[in-house]
Amino acid sequence: MALEDHLGDILAKSRASLGLTTDMLAEVAGVPEDVYAALEASGRWDGQVALDRLAARLGLDATKLEGVARGWEPASVELGRWRELRRLTTGDSSFTVNSYLLWDEATREAALFDTGLNAEAVLEVIGAERLQLRHIFITHSHYDHVEALGPIRQRQPQARVHSSSAHAPLEQRNRPTDFVHVGGLRITNRDTPGHADDGVTYVVGNWPEDAPSVAIVGDAIFAGSMGKAVAHFELARQKVREQILSLPAETLICPGHGPLTTVGEERGHNPFFR
Ligand SMILES: [Zn+2]
Repeated sequence: MALEDHLGDILAKSRASLGLTTDMLAEVAGVPEDVYAALEASGRWDGQVALDRLAARLGLDATKLEGVARGWEPASVELGRWRELRRLTTGDSSFTVNSYLLWDEATREAALFDTGLNAEAVLEVIGAERLQLRHIFITHSHYDHVEALGPIRQRQPQARVHSSSAHAPLEQRNRPTDFVHVGGLRITNRDTPGHADDGVTYVVGNWPEDAPSVAIVGDAIFAGSMGKAVAHFELARQKVREQILSLPAETLICPGHGPLTTVGEERGHNPFFR
């Protein structure tokens, strides 16, 4: 799976959050405006544009930004280590979103994290694996993450929905002290607003055979980038730093878009975090 954001996307997100124009950044980089704009659009870096100067102006880590420019990707993750955790990707060739389904192998109790854009894939696994869907955890209420909630609840009405949305009924709303057991697995939540007001990260621990904890982050952070947070950029970064990158390095990060990654990979390579 390709990175959600290429170099140009990273530059454009940072620029928008600081209210800068492409003209201004072209001047910083010492190139004509159309050369800078082409870099933002394509993400292809030929070494002409001074990335270190752009990084300094945008508050990005220059070394990590150059890493992305040179094709860094997180080491690919073998999900079989987490029995059982599945990524379900819905959408089309132009736009996809990840949701995640996990279950306890012995009890067959299951939890879904975000619904994706359609219900078929998740209902198919639930049927094939004879699972009992107990919980649906929502990372944030942007449409691509909750689009299939209605049809899934229709088929699985016993599943309890959890979210941090102020509009959610009280009995569904996350509290910081909540923990939920799905068989032997233990799920806690931590607020990660910024990209969305109701952004929340779920941390799943106590996996069999000492597999590392799993953080299901929605769009708070992507491999090498982060979700758009124009109005709350600093808040978004602070929450990711405090609530996600503070987890043990081997923690698996399951983002709403793009490939799986780890806390260690993102500390070492995500240009938004110095
Ligand atoms: Zn979102």
